[in-house]
Amino acid sequence: ATPTALMVGTGRGAKMGILIKNGEVLEEVNDIQTVVFDKTGTITVGKPKVTDVIGDQAKIIGLAAGLETSSEHPLATAILDQAQALEINVPQVTNFKALEGRGVEAVVNGQRAFVGNQRLLTDSEINSQLKAEITRLQNEAKTVVFVGLGNEIIGLIAIQDTPKTTSKEAIAALKARGLKTVMLTGDNQHVAQAIADQVGIDEVIADVLPSDKAAHVAELKAHGKVAFVGDGINDAPALTAADVGIAMGSGTDIAIESGGIILVKNDLRDVDLALALSKKTFNRIR
Ligand code: ADP
Ligand code: MG
Repeated sequence: ATPTALMVGTGRGAKMGILIKNGEVLEEVNDIQTVVFDKTGTITVGKPKVTDVIGDQAKIIGLAAGLETSSEHPLATAILDQAQALEINVPQVTNFKALEGRGVEAVVNGQRAFVGNQRLLTDSEINSQLKAEITRLQNEAKTVVFVGLGNEIIGLIAIQDTPKTTSKEAIAALKARGLKTVMLTGDNQHVAQAIADQVGIDEVIADVLPSDKAAHVAELKAHGKVAFVGDGINDAPALTAADVGIAMGSGTDIAIESGGIILVKNDLRDVDLALALSKKTFNRIR
C-alpha cells in the first residue's frame, strides 16, 4: 500500500470513530481469522443490576455493600446501587482485600466476611437446594455471587448485565465473513454460555482468571491471526497479546494505550467496519 492509501484508510476510519494507530495495524486487520471478545462492557452494556437475592435481603445486601465499598468492579457497583436504592444500612468493614477473579473479603464485627464466586468455597459448603437455585439463576444469564459471614453462607445475590443492542448484529457480520468468534471471560461457564447464545458467539472460554487471559489469546493464535476486543478492565495483557488489540473507547486508559484500534462509539459493529476498511485499502492498490 502506498503511504497515501494508508492515510486515506486511517482517515476514513477516524471519521467513523474507528481510530487506527498506524498503517501496519490497518494491514494486519485484513488477515484476522479469529475475533475474541471480553464479555462485561464489551459484548454487554457493562452496567449490571441486582435482580434476585436469596435469603434476608437487608442483611445480605447490607453486608455485601459494606464489603464492596472499596471495590471498583462492575459487580460491586451493582450491589452498592441496590443498597442505596433500598436505603439499606451498610456496615463498616476493616482489612478489605480484593481477591482477583474471585471476589472481595474483609472483617466485619470481628468476623471474616466475603462476597464472591464459587472459587471462594468448597463444594461441600453448597447444599442441593442452593445448587438448584444457582443453576436456575445462571441459566437466566445471571451472575451469582455468594455472601459469607464467619463459617456460613448467608445468601446469594444474582446480578444481570444485558448485551448491547448491536452486539448480535456485529457478531453475525463477522461470522458472515467466515471469522470465528470467541468469548473470553472470568465469569461462570453457564452465564457466559447464556450470553453467548443470545448474541451468536461460536465458542466460550469461561472461568478464566485475569492473569490467564493473555495465555488463552496466545493459544488461539496457533490457528491464525487473532483480534482481541476488550475494555481494559482485567484484559489489558490480552489486548497486547493479540495480533490486533481493539479497545472500547469507554475503556480504561491502559486499554486505549494497549489497543491498535480504538472504537470511539463502543459499538461492536465497528469491528466489521474496520475489516471492510482494511480490505478496501489493501485491495485497491494492489
Ligand atoms: P470478567 O472477565 O467478566 O471481567 P472478572 O475476572 O473481573 O470477570 O471476575 C470474574 C468473577 O469473579 C466474577 O464473575 C465474580 O464471580 C467474581 N468477582 C470478581 N470481583 C468481584 C467483586 N468485587 N465482587 C464479587 N464478585 C467478584
Ligand atoms: Mg471485563
